Amino acid sequence: MMPKLIDGRAIAERVYAELRDEIVSLKSRGATPGLAVVLVGDDPPSRAYVRAKDKTCRELGLHSVKLELSATTTQAELLARVDELNRDEKIHGILVQSPPPPQIDEAAIIRALDPRKDVDGFHPLNVAKLALEDDTGFVPCTPLGCLRLLRETGIALSGANVVVLGRSMIVGKPMALLLMRKGIDATVTVIHSRTRNISESCRRADVIIAAIGRPHFVRTEFVREGATVIDVGINRVEDAGSERGYKLVGDVDFESVSKLAGAITPVPGGVGPMTIAMLMSNTIKACRQITSFQATKSG
Ligand code: NAP
Repeated sequence: MMPKLIDGRAIAERVYAELRDEIVSLKSRGATPGLAVVLVGDDPPSRAYVRAKDKTCRELGLHSVKLELSATTTQAELLARVDELNRDEKIHGILVQSPPPPQIDEAAIIRALDPRKDVDGFHPLNVAKLALEDDTGFVPCTPLGCLRLLRETGIALSGANVVVLGRSMIVGKPMALLLMRKGIDATVTVIHSRTRNISESCRRADVIIAAIGRPHFVRTEFVREGATVIDVGINRVEDAGSERGYKLVGDVDFESVSKLAGAITPVPGGVGPMTIAMLMSNTIKACRQITSFQATKSG
C-alpha cells in the first residue's frame, strides 16, 4: 500500500495564501501586523528557528523585530524588554524563544506577557481559554498546525480514536485539548513516560500524533494498517555521511511505518513548516483582535 505523504510545506503555502489576503486588508485599514521574537543566548537550533520566523514575517510583509540578547541577560533585564514590547503599539505578537538560559525563570516571563500578544499560547489565560473553548485565545502553534494538517488531508476526526504521545504544555496537552473540543470530537488517549502497553494503545488508534522527542520510537508494531501518523518529533542523530555530522529525524521510524500507514508526515517537511505558518496566523489574529478589525476570513 502506498501511503499518502502529508506535505507540510505545500499546506503551509496554502495558509500563507489565505494570510496574504488578510494582511492586505489589515494594511488597507492602517494596521501592519507586527511580531517580536526574543532570543536569549546563542543556542544554535533556537537561532535557526528565530531566523526562519523573522524571514517568514518579512516575506509576508509583516513588521518583524528580532531581539537577540546575550546569554548573560538577567531576569530583570528580560522582563524590562517584555514590558517594552507589551507597550509597543506596532507589536501584536511576542514570542520568547525556548529554552532560555538557566538564570531565566521561563514561567515568570510567560506570565509577564500581555496575553493579547501571547501568540505562542503559553500564558495561563490562553491555556484556560483553550480548555474553555474560547476562540479569542491563542492555541500553541505546533498542535494548531497538526490539526490543520489533519483537516487538509481530509481525515475524519469526529469519533476517531486519536493517540497523542507526549503531554508537554507545548505539544501534547494542547493537542489533546484541541482534539476533544466540541465540533472536532475525537476520542483522545494521551501517553507519557509512565504509560503501560504503549504499542497496544497505539495499535487501536485511527490517528497517532507522536511528540515525545525519541528518535524512531514509533515502529510498525505501534501502527494499525491504514492509520494516519503525524510526526512532531525533531531529533538530531549522528550522521557521518552528512556535512553537518548529524541529520534530523522524527519520533516515527518513517521508513518502516510509511509502508503501513494510510497517511504520514515526513521529517523534515511535515509539522515543522506548519508551526511557523500558525505563528504567522496567530500574529495576524492578535493584530485583528487588538485593533478590533474584523477578519476577512476565519483565521
Ligand atoms: P518534552 O517537553 O520533552 O515532552 C516529551 C513528552 O514525551 C513528555 O510528556 C514525556 O513524558 C513523554 N515521553 C518521553 N519519553 C517517553 C517514552 N519513552 N514513552 C512515552 N512517553 C515519553 O518534548 P516537547 O517539547 O513536547 O517535544 C517533543 C518533540 O517534538 C521533540 O522532538 C521536539 O523537538 C519536537 N517539537 C517539534 C516542533 C515542530 O515544530 N515540529 C515543535 C515543538 C516540539 P513525561 O511527561 O512523563 O515526562
